[in-house]
Amino acid sequence: MTTEPPKTGAEWQAEQSFPPSEAFRAQANAPDHDIYARAAANPEAFWEGFARELEWFTPWTQALEWNPPHAKWFLGGSLNVSVNCLDRHLAVHGDRRAIVWEGEPGDTRVYTYRQLHAEVCRFANVLRRMGIGRGDCVSIYMPMVPEAAIAMLACTRIGAIHSVVFGGFSTEALQERTNDCRARLMITADGYWRRGSVVPLKQVADAALPQCPSVEKLVVLQRLGEKHPVEMLAGRDCWWHDLMAAETDVCAPEHMDSEDPLYILYTSGSTGKPKGILHTTGGYLTGVYATTRLVFDLKPSDLYWCTADIGWVTGHSYVVYGPLANGASVFMYEGSPDWSKEGKPCRDRFWDMIERYKITILYTAPTLIRACMKWGEEHPAAHNLTSLRLLGSVGEPINPEAWLWYHRHIGGERCPIVDTWWQTETGAIMITPLPGLVSTRPGSATRPFPGIVADVVDENGKSLPPDHKGILVIRKPWPSMLRTLWGDDHRYQQVYWSKFQGLYFPGDGALRDQEGNFWLLGRVDDIMLVAGHNISTMEMESTLIEHPAVAEAAVIGKSHEIKGQTPVAFVIVKEQSAPLPSDHDAIHKLGAELKEFVSHRLGAICRPEEVILTADLPKTRSGKIMRRLLRDIAEGRVMGDTTTLADPAVVAGIREKYGNEED
Ligand code: ATP
Ligand code: MG
Repeated sequence: MTTEPPKTGAEWQAEQSFPPSEAFRAQANAPDHDIYARAAANPEAFWEGFARELEWFTPWTQALEWNPPHAKWFLGGSLNVSVNCLDRHLAVHGDRRAIVWEGEPGDTRVYTYRQLHAEVCRFANVLRRMGIGRGDCVSIYMPMVPEAAIAMLACTRIGAIHSVVFGGFSTEALQERTNDCRARLMITADGYWRRGSVVPLKQVADAALPQCPSVEKLVVLQRLGEKHPVEMLAGRDCWWHDLMAAETDVCAPEHMDSEDPLYILYTSGSTGKPKGILHTTGGYLTGVYATTRLVFDLKPSDLYWCTADIGWVTGHSYVVYGPLANGASVFMYEGSPDWSKEGKPCRDRFWDMIERYKITILYTAPTLIRACMKWGEEHPAAHNLTSLRLLGSVGEPINPEAWLWYHRHIGGERCPIVDTWWQTETGAIMITPLPGLVSTRPGSATRPFPGIVADVVDENGKSLPPDHKGILVIRKPWPSMLRTLWGDDHRYQQVYWSKFQGLYFPGDGALRDQEGNFWLLGRVDDIMLVAGHNISTMEMESTLIEHPAVAEAAVIGKSHEIKGQTPVAFVIVKEQSAPLPSDHDAIHKLGAELKEFVSHRLGAICRPEEVILTADLPKTRSGKIMRRLLRDIAEGRVMGDTTTLADPAVVAGIREKYGNEED
């Protein structure tokens, strides 16, 4: 993978560097540049420093035991996650806000640390009374309400292993995940609000449960209320509020071994069938505690908002465990970004809430940023966003153009942006700027977090010199790494550790520049080989987005007899530039213009063979583009696993369009 490519969008954007402001630097949590050297000199001691800031019942006797590919961290230590997220803060700041929540219809709730602690203890008692204890699995199928976090933390208090299933998933996905971990209990809600409609969560749970033989009971939170009645199955279903009313708020925490399982979570399914990732207790908590503290620079005065759903790892690590372990005030929102609290379609719900609540830190995904670019900058411009002081991005590579838009229109050119690369598997952020220390570059996640040893290698696992595209690997174990795939250690070894001996293989392509900044290039499977040149989908997509009419793009390599692969681009046009669907001339003209644009910027070799204008792209329910489905469409194949696809209608629409293009 060493052929020199033509100059890329990423490369010319790289000339733009954003050093941290003096003001930010002066107050930042990340101490000084020495932190990198100190961590590199002794990564285990570096992580132990953070672990020591947590509360342990029994201290560990050994930091790391590494029998590749199996790691154990903080051996012999015992602790409890809920104690570290709640009890630990009570003496000093029990009255600080822990969770500030807004429902889609505008209803609000606030929990202080003391109140959250009481609710978690009460629900932990509920679980114990239902016979749930150490090592039992609990399936959590909940909307974005504070009780979702309460349920997770209550599990950790009694040593139960949770498996959170995203509340937008179907019956089939819920069944598959619940059966895989043999959950004894499921927790759900009557439903929740999304785009002004009720999502009938309990109905989905009802449909799933007959095929989930391990589940004995269903606990149902009443989110919607009496106006939206649900049927309760006698003997199986219990109301959350009835159970809670019978319990006290005193609950002795279980002493968990550092390596006891904490939770199982399935990956997003962007590249295939989701994998059941297992995280354990001490190492995971240390990893999310340290990264939250340094990457998000949290202060007692902050109101921090990570927009991820608790159904994804970002919701686990950076809505619940990382921020609460840091004693932060967390904002949570139930609904959709394009629905107002008055119950109408809108384009500014996020900006409205940031203004009303004076949110200071926003952590979101490129898919949201690109949707906002499509809607137009007048929507954020109509709000006062000066409370914001730090922005973050996660989930996909952020195209430089989207980064700059975020910087200008949301950050007011004042907020550092942390583009954080990590995975469900890594548990915590792995590559990221430390705000206040590291100069950022649009499109680059910059540097490995201190203590993380990342590298870019060729197909043989040999380290590549700067500016060469290759494969990202991690060279040393880290505390929050996955321990295995639930019930399938063989697959764990195969997927992550068999490509290169002793190196963790995340499956992403990357380039490291002369300064040591990492540029994520998308999935290794998505990197195209056009006539012997390596072209990353990321570079072509980022270039397309630089065209003023384009809001979002997905590029795939379609098999080609002579060239090997040829690029096909699927493009979403900004609302104000979109040709009418009936205006075939305008559509054709824009397509031709975009081909020319890419070819001019990146070289003729990158000229897309086809440009398909589409209203939408197939995405996972966590908002990631599913390029493999686009490849299936372009090559006329039967589609692979679609259980994590957000909206099947999108695929049908593109299929139809694609057929028309071919005619
Ligand atoms: P599956 O593994 O089932 O295909 P997935 O990889 O989408 O699904 P996640 O663990 O949610 O599941 O996502 C991790 C992946 O997301 C990374 O491997 C990477 O491809 C992408 N990613 C996340 N953050 C970034 C980022 N800041 N820059 C580039 N890519 C990112
Ligand atoms: Mg993955």
